[in-house]
Amino acid sequence: MSDTASDVLDFPHRHLLGIEGISSAEITLLLDRSEIYVEQNRQADMKKSILRGRTIINLFFEASTRTRTSFELAGKRLGGDVINMSVATSAIKKGETLIDTAMTLNAMHPHVLVVRHPDSGAVNLLSEKVNCAVINAGDGSHEHPTQALLDALTIRRRKGRLSGLVVAICGDILHSRVARSNIHLLNTMGARVRVVAPKTLVPAVAERLGIEVFHDMNAGLADCDIVMMLRLQSERMHGNFFPSIREYFHFFGLDYEKLGNAKEDALIMHPGPMNRGVEIDSEVADDYGRSAIREQVEMGVAVRMACLELLARNLSKIELGNL
Ligand code: ASP
Repeated sequence: MSDTASDVLDFPHRHLLGIEGISSAEITLLLDRSEIYVEQNRQADMKKSILRGRTIINLFFEASTRTRTSFELAGKRLGGDVINMSVATSAIKKGETLIDTAMTLNAMHPHVLVVRHPDSGAVNLLSEKVNCAVINAGDGSHEHPTQALLDALTIRRRKGRLSGLVVAICGDILHSRVARSNIHLLNTMGARVRVVAPKTLVPAVAERLGIEVFHDMNAGLADCDIVMMLRLQSERMHGNFFPSIREYFHFFGLDYEKLGNAKEDALIMHPGPMNRGVEIDSEVADDYGRSAIREQVEMGVAVRMACLELLARNLSKIELGNL
């Protein structure tokens, strides 16, 4: 393991299953470590050996492009052995249960399992059955912790802080794990969170999460620092939540007119994949002076390197019998 200032800082969690329950000091530690990797990833020689001899399995029960690639790059840049497993090529297709799959992989002694699953809670359940560290790469509409961390890193680098910023999270809040993880993180770090969505796409618990709820984009975006757009998660929708895509874009799609309500230097964000002309206008998405969408992807690799590093440090302590 490398020895840096962070040797004295602890991340006292065996797994990273969600942002709920992670303290502001731990979030800051993860973001600070990520900064080191942002710099490293911009150098010609990006490879480290922090994870040499460690095996990481990316187990994806749901489609993914950027998250899976990002974890793969993160593991490889830290010198780990990374194996990708997706549903299409695995025994899950043959009817094996989640737990059987987890136990099979566990018997091969991986060090970290990175898991994405369509059911909320599935990754937590799996983490109780295995000996290795588990990172939640998105479970149903529950949590996507590394997405919230990479969003926070992007915001902190652009705005210099998280505390006190007004962040409007807009769109399909109900089905979004990105929204849930971001709400926990931003609340913990002292930002003011608003959600902006049709009534049908806001969870009943929203007010209890300590956030402001708006059903009108102009009011919701008024004077905000960050505009975070979300995709309509049609794969998780059973029934009709809005009359038509056209009408949805008219009322909730981000265009320059609605953006005009936000602060002049408001940052536009989207976790991807984007549906242009549905939740965001193409011109706004490609406005790279204001949009941080590409930067979010870059930050993702650095954040995942930091998460893998800190969990791997804990594995060493477990092996040495002092955690
Ligand atoms: N990529 C993000 C997720 O996996 C957002 C999305 O799919 O819309 O939740």
